[in-house]
Amino acid sequence: MRLSRYFLPVLKEEPAEAKIVSHRYMLRAGMIKQAAAGIYSWLPLGFKVLKKIENIVHEEQVRAGHIPMLMPTLQSADLWRESGRYDDYGQEMLRISDRHGRDMLYGPTNEELITDIFRSHVNSYKDLPLTLYHIQWKFRDEVRPRFGVMRGREFLMKDGYNFDLTKEDALHAYNRHLVSYLRSYERMGLQAIPMRADGGPIGGDYTHEFLVLAETGESEVFYDSEVTDLTFGDREIDYDSVEACQGVLEEFTSRYARTDETHDEALFADVPADRQRSARGIEVGQIFYFGTKYSEAMGATVVDSNQKQVPVHMGSHGIGVSRLLGAIIEANHDDKGIIWPEGVTPFHVGIVNLKQGDDEADAACEALYQSITALGLEPLYDDRKERAGGKFATMDLIGLPWRITVGPRGLKNGVVELTNRRTGVSEEMAPEAAIEKVAGIYAKI
Ligand code: ATP
Ligand code: MG
Repeated sequence: MRLSRYFLPVLKEEPAEAKIVSHRYMLRAGMIKQAAAGIYSWLPLGFKVLKKIENIVHEEQVRAGHIPMLMPTLQSADLWRESGRYDDYGQEMLRISDRHGRDMLYGPTNEELITDIFRSHVNSYKDLPLTLYHIQWKFRDEVRPRFGVMRGREFLMKDGYNFDLTKEDALHAYNRHLVSYLRSYERMGLQAIPMRADGGPIGGDYTHEFLVLAETGESEVFYDSEVTDLTFGDREIDYDSVEACQGVLEEFTSRYARTDETHDEALFADVPADRQRSARGIEVGQIFYFGTKYSEAMGATVVDSNQKQVPVHMGSHGIGVSRLLGAIIEANHDDKGIIWPEGVTPFHVGIVNLKQGDDEADAACEALYQSITALGLEPLYDDRKERAGGKFATMDLIGLPWRITVGPRGLKNGVVELTNRRTGVSEEMAPEAAIEKVAGIYAKI
């Protein structure tokens, strides 16, 4: 993409309404624009990152054997009356009536709709196990929408639902979700720690929230510092193996890590004092096993091998896709702007032409642009007639991990400059060497 032809409405001034750094940078970098309280338009740069995150989530769900689909945003109130949640959900639910006076709602989540689909089409235990998911906009009329996309009213969520014959099978699905979530967050350059969470009105021990540690997090968390040493890395896992998935669960959840809702001072005291930590965290996902609550309320049953009708065991599992942009920025920035992890960066490399209009510099940039594009990578070429300082400031703000700077002086010596956004380290090298280095880095992502 050439910047002169792109739409990147960067703000010069500090947006006064933004209280935290991710919100501030998302506005300044022209990623989002507020349309109404807690509701945002996703401008091209923000939309690109959103899609990258969404794509990682899709790939990891499919890898785990889960099946993508799409349910609508608007739902009929009838199903929610059946489950009993229409009245329970309270003011967070946006209620709408259509022209015929029928009660509708903008879905805050999809347990009812998916359970209805399941009961309409699945009758036998032979069709289980089944895990369906979608990535769709949700609406929750939050009392205090704030922090930009972190607590929006309209937000993008991946929500998945497993249907299993037995509790054991459903717990295997729970563990598969835990593994696939760990992998997803790591690919986004994030460490998200599974913490024992509160089951809320549904109750039960089987729920974990995934938290990214950040000062601006809304949740207070308590943990054994050893949990921050754990990484999933690039190990292969057999998602069909109950033992393998259970092993990961034990590895990642056996140490103390809880949100304030489940925090237990007595248990925490057993953690060696020098490893006790309390901090703030951003909830970027939650997994849940809730047994037969919805299947019983809504008649989602199958016949088992003895021809008996039994309610299925279910769980639901969510990732806050749009919130993740905020979380990633909170965890990856400096005072100049965002520092995107390579896995989610909107463009792979920036090209800065120090002297637009100089034949040699223009030609060198053009050649870099073509070669990088031919490798399947996306460069963002700042080809505007702007001064160098302005171009650097924009690149730093929008946070591309790598920048190639091209100027007549370097070209005389046959070199360009390759700069790492995170470390700030610049190296001079031949254009081909810069391309090779950048390509090598992305080949590992
Ligand atoms: P919270 O406690 O932050 O209100 P929740 O526990 O109600 O979230 P879930 O129902 O577990 O949320 O939804 C799954 C994920 O969706 C959450 O882990 C979070 O990342 C994201 N999410 C929830 N509410 C919002 C919101 N208002 N804006 C953006 N993302 C959200
Ligand atoms: Mg939650």
